[in-house]
Parts: sequence; structure tokens; C-alpha cells
Amino acid sequence: MSAIATLFQEAARLAAGFRETAFARHMPSGNYATSLAVFDEPLPGAGSDMLEVIRQLAVGAEPGLHATTGPRFFGWVIGGSHPVGVAADFLTSAWGQNAGNHVAAPAAAAVETIAARWLLDLLKLPAESSVGFVTGATVANFTCLAAARGEVLRKVGWNADADGLFGAPAITVLIGDDAHTTVFSALQFLGLGHDRVLRLPTDAMGRTDPAALPGALDAITGPLIAVLQAGQINTGAFDDFDRLIPPLKAKGAWVHVDGAFGLWAQASAKVRHLSRGIDGADSWATDGHKWLQTPYDCGYAIVRDELAHRRAMTIAASYLPLAGEGERDPSHYVPELSRRARGFATWAMLKHFGRNGIEALIDQCCASARLMADRLAREPGIAILNEVALNQLVVRFAVDRPDDESNAMTRKAIEKIQSEGILFAGGAKWRGRDVLRLSVTNFQTTADQAELAAESIITAFRSVSNDALLR
Ligand SMILES: *Cc1c(COP(=O)(O)O)cnc(C)c1O
Repeated sequence: MSAIATLFQEAARLAAGFRETAFARHMPSGNYATSLAVFDEPLPGAGSDMLEVIRQLAVGAEPGLHATTGPRFFGWVIGGSHPVGVAADFLTSAWGQNAGNHVAAPAAAAVETIAARWLLDLLKLPAESSVGFVTGATVANFTCLAAARGEVLRKVGWNADADGLFGAPAITVLIGDDAHTTVFSALQFLGLGHDRVLRLPTDAMGRTDPAALPGALDAITGPLIAVLQAGQINTGAFDDFDRLIPPLKAKGAWVHVDGAFGLWAQASAKVRHLSRGIDGADSWATDGHKWLQTPYDCGYAIVRDELAHRRAMTIAASYLPLAGEGERDPSHYVPELSRRARGFATWAMLKHFGRNGIEALIDQCCASARLMADRLAREPGIAILNEVALNQLVVRFAVDRPDDESNAMTRKAIEKIQSEGILFAGGAKWRGRDVLRLSVTNFQTTADQAELAAESIITAFRSVSNDALLR
């Protein structure tokens, strides 16, 4: 066997070994400090053998790896990094294509074209939209809002892409009070300011209040960008697009939707009612590395007006060939020039699941979330604080106690759950209270897995309740 084949096989063997045992472990045995200690040495003067380097990396990293790919990982909103996507990513790395333009990477550019078309079809978004393959929803929000910024100013005769924002007409940014923190970051990066926004009030689930919109719109003149949300990070709630988008469009607003995971409701007949009217927006940010299960990093910036998208992102230079009619330069839709060919893993996941498989995946996650919610809600002292319409759960413990005791018990239950390691989930604050957050975003979280996780949560809560009684 050649040296390359031996090396690649060893990497594949190590990767498979991790994946096969990761399902059993859910907490890493190490942490940042222990991982640092493993790798902390002065820059080596002499090099090392390739096979040895890869083995050392695997052995050194493993204690500090979270089993985020497993069926009972419910922390944050994390996809499963599906084996097919991983294998496509191996190839992507091995091929080493620079997906900046279609001449340097013809296959990468072409596969993006097809994957983009499939995504628009699957997510039921306007077929004329353009898709930028970005690192994730943060950069997707940034890219879409860059297009929005350019377009709302262009309409009043200002070229922001050329002349910047100094002296430009002011833009009003309307945003729901429970928008994701990365949207505020995107506004910050774009010179629109994370605090220089008009925040619309939200209801108990984090949905923008449509009744507050007319009054807000009356007071606004000039360029306007509105940011709506599909899938609130804690509750999974959706803004009411049917009621919000038409008045915003009538006012001339650019409507952007952060749908990092929630946009995928569009792919399922069972939950599509949640996102009704979402296709009336101007741009949408979503992730591949959450519900589509691609490996990190993978997100999509989708813009209805391709020209606005390209104006905001095109990188041109005499040494860079320009795409002609019917050709695609991936870099025209993203903030980067040189980058990995993200279309390959996306294509592989869409091809592997197919439309029906993705619908089944979304439905399985939602059903498992529902099952856990029902099981947990039957246990005295446990309450589900959100309407579990999608894949997110907000759980609170010892709800029959005063707020501060319930906070403390919730934190203790989370510690206990994490130390037992049967599942992983983390805490958050929701409406000022400590809660356990669960996100069901993994392709392997079947009903059995959800049942097991719910039972473990209940057992952990009973155990901390007993401790509290004994004290
Ligand atoms: C995850 C998430 C983001 C950020 O996406 P990244 O992929 O982490 O960049 C933005 N908005 C929402 C609602 C999210 O869930």
C-alpha cells in the first residue's frame, strides 16, 4: 500500500472507532485545561512521521471530544455530522479544491449550483433566489443583511458598497426582542450597530408581537430592514410571517429571516404550518450543520434578489476569471475568496436522504421532542415551559417551590444529568429563570433514545430532590 493510502486508511479507522464508541460516552473525560496540557509543547524544530502525527492527534484529542454526534446529545442546537457528509468532507479535503471560482474548481462550482437548486426546492423558497455556501448561520445572517443594507440604500440613491455608510441616509432596523445573538453580531459587523435597532416586543414564546408592528411602522421613514425569526433558540417558536411580512413589504422593508434550524420546518408537511408565509421574505439564513446533519462548517445565505446578493459580495480582480452567463463563481455569494468546497457535503446529504428522508428526519426529531415533553410533564415537579411544536424543549424543575429554590434545583438537576453522562443537555435562562434546554437535532434520536433520555432526566431530578429533602 502507498504511504498515502496507509495514512488515509488510518485516519478513516480512527474516525470510525470514535464514532462507534462515541454513542456510549456523552461527556468528555477531559476539559480545556487537560486538553491544553496534552498538546502544550514548544513549536517542534524537527518534524514527525505523518502516520505518527495523525495517531498522536487522535489519542491526544479524544479525551476532550464531546459526543456531539450521538443520539442523546441535546446541547445547544447541534446536528449529527452524518457519516455520509463526513465521507464527502474527507473527499473534499483530499481533493483540495479552492471553491472560489468556477475555473479553479469546476466540479465544486457545479455541485453548488445543483445543491442550491435542491435546497430552494426542498425549503420551498423562490426558485430565482441565489444561495451562498457559508460557514454557518452567523455568516449567513451577515451575508443576507449585507445584501439588505446595500439594496435599501440603493433604492434611495446611495451606493453603500462603493461609498460606505459615512453620510448615508439612516437605516432603521426592526428586530424581535428574542432574536438570536448572532443576528445582533451581524448588524455590528455591518456598521448598523447591535444596539441601534428598534426592538419589537415578543410574547411568552419569543414570537414578535404583530400587534406592535403598525405603531412601529407609522413612526418610521426611510430605508428599513426587518429581521424575523423561524425557530427561537430556546423555545423553537416562529414569528407569524403571514401577519408580519405583508405590512413590512408594503412599507418597502427588506425582510430577512433567521431560520438557522427553523427554516427546515418547510421540508415537512407536519410542521410546515409553523413557517407559513416565510417565502414572502427577501432573504433567509440557515444552517446545513444543524438539521441537514452535514459536518461543520456549513450554512446557507439565501437571497431572493440575486443581483443584490452579488452586489454585496462579489470579489473582482483582473487575475480572477469572471463567471459568464449560466456559470457560477461561488465567491460571488459569500464573504470569502479561497475556501473549502462546501457544496459537496451538502449535495451528499441531500442525495442520501432525498426529499422523503429529510421529511422523515424532521418528523422524527419533532416526535422525539414531543415524546420527551409528554414524559417529563407527567413527573410531579417538572414543567415544560414552551409549546413543543418543533424540536426544542425548555424544562424547569421543582416548579412547586419558590422561584429561587426552583432555580437552584434546576441547576442541580442539570449538574446531575451531566455528571451521569447518559445524555448531554445544558442550562440557560428563560424569562429570568434557570432552565434546562433540550434540542433534538440528531438523525439518530429515535423514540427509544428519547424515552431513555427522558427517564434519565427524571431519575436525576428525583435524586437531587431526595438529597434536598434529606438535608
Ligand atoms: C445556531 C443559530 C445561529 C448561529 O448559527 P451558527 O451556525 O452557529 O453560525 C443563528 N440563529 C439561530 C436561531 C441559531 O439557532
